[in-house]
Amino acid sequence: MFPFDKHAKERIIRIQMNLSPAARASKRAWERCRDWEGRLSMDYARPTELEEALGLLCTKRWTILAGGTDFYPALGAGPMKSDVLDINGLSALQGIHETETHIVFGARTSWSTVIDAPLPPAFDMLKRAAREVGSVQIQNTGTIAGNLCNASPAADGVPPLLALDADVELRSAEGVRHLPLSAFVLGNRETARTPEELLTAIHVPRASSRGASGFVKLGARRYLVISIAMAAARVVRDGERIAEAAISVGSCSAVAQRLSGLEAQLKGAMCADIRRAISDYDFPELSPIDDVRGTAAYRVEAAREIAVRALEQALDGMDCRGAAA
Ligand SMILES: Cc1cc2nc3c(=O)[nH]c(=O)nc-3n(C[C@H](O)[C@H](O)[C@H](O)COP(=O)(O)OP(=O)(O)OC[C@H]3O[C@@H](n4cnc5c(N)ncnc54)[C@H](O)[C@@H]3O)c2cc1C
Repeated sequence: MFPFDKHAKERIIRIQMNLSPAARASKRAWERCRDWEGRLSMDYARPTELEEALGLLCTKRWTILAGGTDFYPALGAGPMKSDVLDINGLSALQGIHETETHIVFGARTSWSTVIDAPLPPAFDMLKRAAREVGSVQIQNTGTIAGNLCNASPAADGVPPLLALDADVELRSAEGVRHLPLSAFVLGNRETARTPEELLTAIHVPRASSRGASGFVKLGARRYLVISIAMAAARVVRDGERIAEAAISVGSCSAVAQRLSGLEAQLKGAMCADIRRAISDYDFPELSPIDDVRGTAAYRVEAAREIAVRALEQALDGMDCRGAAA
């Protein structure tokens, strides 16, 4: 397959490609041919205003392109399978800002921006997760919203954002709606986003950004790895006791889960007793599978250990800073 022709029409570029014999053999690609025999065409748009993007989303089904770090690998060697709405011209979706009630991450905020941002200790788990997303090059390009919309069970961004009670802002030409992250990611590669909607921001309530936090990812090697299990924990301390804990585990179910049973068990527990409190917890929230990376039983035991370590990291963070709230 190689580029054939390009011409722009009202800010939408129609790209036409000749198909290689191998691509012609693909039934799906053949069905997508719109012009003439053997030639595939697709539309590409790169709006600079949010309204324009939302207007385009009403016209037909587009695939949204942000950093492209999930989008391009998913294409494999095949041709583009859909029209592409590139949101990299939407500067309004970039960066982190604060309101009276929330800390707001624009959808296009990259993982590197998260790492460099001056955020409270409760966000340390998100920063640690950001450092685990691929390599520095991937962190510079990949976005926080792309990670959520791709909805991989192993997405590193989901457990910390769950433990921060994040919600997502979804905009369409019809208006805006907010969904808790737990109601947005519905399953493996499945979200509650409709085709007309763009995820525009992620909101973290100030009330949930108290305390300190930790994140631990277990993989088969140290770097550039898909996790076997990961845990994010946020703790608010009251002297030697835990006043509040928010814990979530990823890669041990189709969607990362908050461990509400364990959170209730830890409330009021002595900080020094964390390991004992978790030792008999049976993780009813998780439904791990056996796969090439680990067995279900191994994943549960791994979740137990990394949950302890994430909690210990959070408590260490508090000791270092000398403040809990
Ligand atoms: C080498 C490599 C290593 C990686 N390692 C990790 C890792 O360790 N951990 C990890 O979690 N991920 C990893 N990833 C995956 C990827 O980098 C992240 O998920 C990243 O955050 C995706 O963001 P993006 O902007 O590149 O998304 P894109 O690829 O642009 O988009 C991803 C999906 O989200 C949709 N989308 C994007 N933005 C929006 C929006 N605003 N509204 C609606 N839909 C949207 C797209 O249509 C697409 O379906 C890796 C990828 C590569 C290539």
